[in-house]
Amino acid sequence: MIELGDNTCRWGAPPAAVRAMRDAADAMLSGYPEMYSRTLKEALAQYAGVDPEMLVIGNGSDDILDSTFRGVAEPGDRLAMLEPTFVMVPIFAQLHRLVVDRVPLDSSYGLPVDPLFENSPRIIYLCSPNNPTGTAIPLETIEAVASRAPGVVLVDEAYFEFAGESAVSLVREFPRLIVARTLSKAFGLAGLRVGYAIASPEMVRAIERARGPYTVSAMSERAAAAAVALDGAWVRDNVARSVAARERLATALRQRGLDVPPSATNFVFAPVAKASAIAKAMRDRGVSVRPFAHIPQFCSALVESRGEALRITAGPDDEIDAALTAFDEARDACG
Ligand code: PMP
Repeated sequence: MIELGDNTCRWGAPPAAVRAMRDAADAMLSGYPEMYSRTLKEALAQYAGVDPEMLVIGNGSDDILDSTFRGVAEPGDRLAMLEPTFVMVPIFAQLHRLVVDRVPLDSSYGLPVDPLFENSPRIIYLCSPNNPTGTAIPLETIEAVASRAPGVVLVDEAYFEFAGESAVSLVREFPRLIVARTLSKAFGLAGLRVGYAIASPEMVRAIERARGPYTVSAMSERAAAAAVALDGAWVRDNVARSVAARERLATALRQRGLDVPPSATNFVFAPVAKASAIAKAMRDRGVSVRPFAHIPQFCSALVESRGEALRITAGPDDEIDAALTAFDEARDACG
């Protein structure tokens, strides 16, 4: 199966991380990891251009989102998010008994700002670039939201390396702005389960209190720190080839008549009717992609698609070729 359904890296893992895992000593198994991943924080602080005190490490960025919701909100508080966005957000929010307000993206995938504030949310979650649409939120819009927000603004930058723009520059100005990131995408390390957030030391403390000690394994910390310190060139190459691949995939889908929005990620979002049936038929042909259904019909491209879409990870040329062949056959088969 060619796995193009979860936006992970299709070009393997970076070399220093692989070496670190291979050379891990016995002591890494019998001892505890660092309580709050100080060594990894120092490496990531350099990478992100911030102080180590502004970092929280999590067991994947899923853990960062989950701990943030627990750390900064109380049951009954409201969380405002765009629709569609990262599917785990309402799940984590509801686990913590938050009330979720969904604000539909507008017809050009833009962000209607005012409705986000309607119910005085304790948390505003913005995903930029957004999963599943791949579209980025302009930095000025994030700044405008942060300057009006009554509570915390959580910007999920899981894909920021592919976009080249980041809200980290705003964190010092807005002490309740939290930027969440991951090593699962551009770093090619989804199996390690390492995510991080950049925020004011006050927010870092709130998240860490909710997260607790020792949640990242010693092996993961070690491999992640090696990758962040030594695999910069590999990551840059990986981003360049992912961006080239997503453009190739987007162009090929547009040539097939699909209204594909510009992607700032390592995947492409393609509104298309019968997406779920097409995804199943593609899977039967050895290619896994992610279908979306029941997306609110606010967007002209989605209206024609009857609110259905596919999300396809950009991979090497042979995988894109296989995906396009499977897509053409599946669309024919699904009428
Ligand atoms: N945020 C977004 C927007 C994502 O797409 C993902 C993974 N699909 C995550 C967070 C979680 O990533 P991880 O837990 O692997 O760091």
